[in-house]
Amino acid sequence: MKITIFGSGYVGLVTGACLADVGHEVMCVDVDADKVARLSQGEVPIYEPGLETLIHQNLDAGRLHFTNDAKAAVEFGLLQFIAVGTPSDEDGSADLRHVLKVAETIATHMTEYRIIVDKSTVPVGTASKVERTVAATLEARGAAIEFDVCSNPEFLKEGAAIEDFSRGSRIVIGTESERVRQTMRECYGPYNRQRDKLMFMGVRSAELTKYAANAMLATKISFINEMANLAERLGADIEEVRHGIGSDPRIGYHFIYPGCGYGGSCFPKDVKALAHTAEAAGHPAHLINAVEQVNARQKSRLFEMVSDAFDGDLAGKTIALWGLAFKPNTDDMREAPSRALMEALWQAGARVQAHDPEAAEECLRIYGNREDLDLTEHRDETLEGAHALVICTEWKAFRTVDFVKLRERLVEPVVVDGRNLFSPESARDAGLTYYAIGRGASV
Ligand code: NAD
Repeated sequence: MKITIFGSGYVGLVTGACLADVGHEVMCVDVDADKVARLSQGEVPIYEPGLETLIHQNLDAGRLHFTNDAKAAVEFGLLQFIAVGTPSDEDGSADLRHVLKVAETIATHMTEYRIIVDKSTVPVGTASKVERTVAATLEARGAAIEFDVCSNPEFLKEGAAIEDFSRGSRIVIGTESERVRQTMRECYGPYNRQRDKLMFMGVRSAELTKYAANAMLATKISFINEMANLAERLGADIEEVRHGIGSDPRIGYHFIYPGCGYGGSCFPKDVKALAHTAEAAGHPAHLINAVEQVNARQKSRLFEMVSDAFDGDLAGKTIALWGLAFKPNTDDMREAPSRALMEALWQAGARVQAHDPEAAEECLRIYGNREDLDLTEHRDETLEGAHALVICTEWKAFRTVDFVKLRERLVEPVVVDGRNLFSPESARDAGLTYYAIGRGASV
């Protein structure tokens, strides 16, 4: 099957590489010429476990192509996936500029029947907007060509994207057309052998399913963070509470880890966009608004704790920071808690010495070479001359530390653990002043 994918970011690249890997012929198209040139040479601009190998294998096999020639790309695939970004607009709504631009591009170049598959996360009603854009562009061309638009939201997680795409729990497809159903069955057939994961539904339901899924997950995070803050004030330990509630199968252990707030390219913008959709639909979503507010407050917790440890005087202090990415196994720093922390530290006159196994390059791209930021190659180099250590991301490499050595290397024995990686008792026994999330102000 011939498939075109617009957008070679996290979702487009993973989709393209995975579909090529099961034998489809895939053309990935992006407006970023430099990105296309690098990808054509097998140079993958993002870090995602296993992706580089998969791209190399399928480039070599001749099943995967990269281009910025939109006309060739529209000619190529019966299926035209849209996997471009849908960032937050100023009012929190999803900015559909890129999605509608792709719709217009497809309609400008198409010469025969095409199925347009919306994989970007888009608000309910977007498929209709795409349909109207394509119809209007075709009409302006004086062309009468059949097409369908369907919704196929993506549920992959960065850091485990290939695994999620290949072995995800479901493949949601919103369409009313039998022709589209059959074609999508064929497209996903290789991923649908063990059991039928395809869930066909109405287009609007498919669009809402994606937002409902992300809002539910974000709600779990904000819920446990709210409980953590409460635990801190009430003298309870949130980790004990987490075990206590997670054992109830109606609640479960998934996604109830207290921390320094959710980040990334999806939850923050999708929660805001859903709140905006609800408002526009005349049903202000109180719960969703609260999820967002709790998260915004949580992101400032790390700075508050560091500041408390130094009685509000951070001028001239050096803070070691472990983890820049918004979560482990990715280099993505979009809306990462580390950014809120670093920016607040700089504002307060502190210096940052940071280490991340994958996100240093991304950090430099965002902040450039600043005098008050040092990026170190090794974890423990951040500790040289540092007054405190803050852990922002739960990379595996941060889970084991020698507390005694840590205390000896830090100027002040202050550790702020934004991911509750350590035992407060062990930290205390080693003489550290240890702050964590929902486990008492310090021990
Ligand atoms: P991204 O920013 O990493 O990549 C988007 C790509 O689209 C960029 O390379 C950009 O150059 C390209 N692009 C923009 N306009 C284009 C055009 N007109 N033609 C061709 N290419 C164009 O975005 P992403 O993280 O891959 O997300 C894409 C969509 O998928 C978003 O709607 C997002 O919400 C959704 N999503 C993302 C994830 C995730 O974990 N990143 C998971 C599920 C869903």
